[in-house]
Amino acid sequence: MSEAELGGPIEAVAALIIRSRKIVVFTGAGVSTESGIPDFRSPGGIWSRYAPVMYQDFLASHEARRQYWKMQKERYPDFAQAQPNPAHHAVAELERLGKLDCVITQNIDGLHQRAGNSPEKVIELHGNGTWVLCLRCGRRLPREEVQKRLEAGEEVPTCEACGGLLKPATVSFGQPMPDKETWEAEARSRHCDLFMVIGSTLVVYPAAQMPVYALEGGARLVIINLSETPLDPYATVVLRGKAGETMAQVIERVKAKMEDA
Ligand code: NAD
Repeated sequence: MSEAELGGPIEAVAALIIRSRKIVVFTGAGVSTESGIPDFRSPGGIWSRYAPVMYQDFLASHEARRQYWKMQKERYPDFAQAQPNPAHHAVAELERLGKLDCVITQNIDGLHQRAGNSPEKVIELHGNGTWVLCLRCGRRLPREEVQKRLEAGEEVPTCEACGGLLKPATVSFGQPMPDKETWEAEARSRHCDLFMVIGSTLVVYPAAQMPVYALEGGARLVIINLSETPLDPYATVVLRGKAGETMAQVIERVKAKMEDA
């Protein structure tokens, strides 16, 4: 059924949600910009101010580690203060309504869990930035603790237990993706009936392959994003709006329709 037949894009997405039983929501940095965490690629985003540090350079070069932690130190206050926005709350509501199979997120901010999604329903493809890992002994420590050390003047923090390199528990460019999460995300994408992209450019692979698996499995695709994505032509509905505003309207219509039914 076309978007027009479904009665406008918000109504169309609400109707697709009502009809679906296993929804996979796929989120990128754009779902969290309304929470005050900048994305990477929008004007003023992180890549307009910092060059990305490749994982191999982080391992090989003290100067690369210094640059990496400098960016981390600057970004962390936004990250630490961020609260879930209406888009995160709407996704949590999909779980309460019994519609959600899982959330697959490229984000490292933990805001889906804080909005009320069960941790076992959130697949973090790129790790979680609220933790730091020792790359030698595997010790985990809160990111907050490391921020205090950076603010006290350390430029390249190392593990106090073994002297190994510390790095946030996130996947950097050039670093392998976590096997379990990647396989699980692929399997769930292939078996869902509706795949909703919220706030992703769909250019970072293999994460951006997930909607392709969903289409191959016969699912409908909805894309909610401020800018164009390469998969727009394959979507049943494309909503070119802000994630928080749009998802708040969508979920309101879903609830109203469920009450009417
Ligand atoms: P991206 O920066 O490439 O794309 C973000 C997309 O969101 C853009 O297309 C932009 O137009 C759109 N957007 C921005 N604000 C929006 C809003 N309010 N509503 C709707 N759309 C909005 O990010 P990506 O595609 O997620 O991929 C890049 C990588 O960025 C990921 O690996 C992710 O780990 C990392 N990242 C994560 C965070 C976070 O955890 N919050 C923040 C920055 C980057």
